[in-house]
Amino acid sequence: MRRIDSPPGPCRAKLAVLLLLMIGIVFQAAGQEAPAPQFLRVGPNLYFNYDFAGSNSAVLITDEGILVVDTRMHPDDAELLLAEIRERSDAPIRWVINSQFHGDHYMGNSVFAREGATIIAHRDTQTVILERFDYEVATRPFDQRGQDRTKVELVLPDILFDSHMTLDLGGYTVELIYLGAGQNEGDTLIHFPHARALHTGGVFHNRSWANTSYTPSVAEWIRVLRAMKAIDVDTYLPPHGPVATEQDLDDFTEFIGLLHAGVREAVDGGVSLEAMLRENTFPQYSNWRGYERRERNLTALHELLTVGEAQYFVPGSRAAPISE
Ligand SMILES: [Zn+2]
Repeated sequence: MRRIDSPPGPCRAKLAVLLLLMIGIVFQAAGQEAPAPQFLRVGPNLYFNYDFAGSNSAVLITDEGILVVDTRMHPDDAELLLAEIRERSDAPIRWVINSQFHGDHYMGNSVFAREGATIIAHRDTQTVILERFDYEVATRPFDQRGQDRTKVELVLPDILFDSHMTLDLGGYTVELIYLGAGQNEGDTLIHFPHARALHTGGVFHNRSWANTSYTPSVAEWIRVLRAMKAIDVDTYLPPHGPVATEQDLDDFTEFIGLLHAGVREAVDGGVSLEAMLRENTFPQYSNWRGYERRERNLTALHELLTVGEAQYFVPGSRAAPISE
């Protein structure tokens, strides 16, 4: 008689994989249970705060002052980032750059404003921050993270830029570059030439599903990715996912192209949304961060290609997505 209480090896292996996947999903759903962020040195005086379950930041530490790219989702997260910085330097926080309007990248601004930082963002980034701030505060999973929603303050940029801006700090040059809308209008690239490194704003995520709820045009997004590749660096610092190489950038560009092609074909062929979702499972990307948001992202892309507008441009008419 076949015993069913002791599954053979392959089943056990499958169960183990399933368990690991479930743990991963729990990590992503409840940020406080994930591994602690790592503060990594990625070049001379340049650091990358890598958060497995949250958003990343980049930090340039010099004797004359400190520059921070992205302030994380909540003042508590920003305090942790500031503590990492203070372990290494007492220099003033001179500059903060908000690379995009998604709340998980700027809602820690108040902590760095208190430190005296001057905050810079692209003009379009500020426009959407103003439009969406109340929604961001209301919908972020602060409760699951043990964070007090009422501590989040709207702290806007002090300086806006449109296409290029150059900062000099402690003998280093930092370039802010806008090549057009990728994932978001206002997506800002931050180039650290001395470290041959580039923070990629919302344009590129490493081994992470793209959020297609905000892009005005996937074709334009791919153009921006290709133009970004022309910037001569070795290291990419993404807003989500680990430190990346040019190969990772190529993989992401291919991924965006495949998403776009799959949905475009369905829309052009009159295929229903439901059938498109069934046919476009993209199993080759099932181990990328955010795969559980596949249907939501494909639905957003379907809408973009059907009505010609990103979802968030129609406030109040449907459930706006959480930005990522
Ligand atoms: Zn994000």
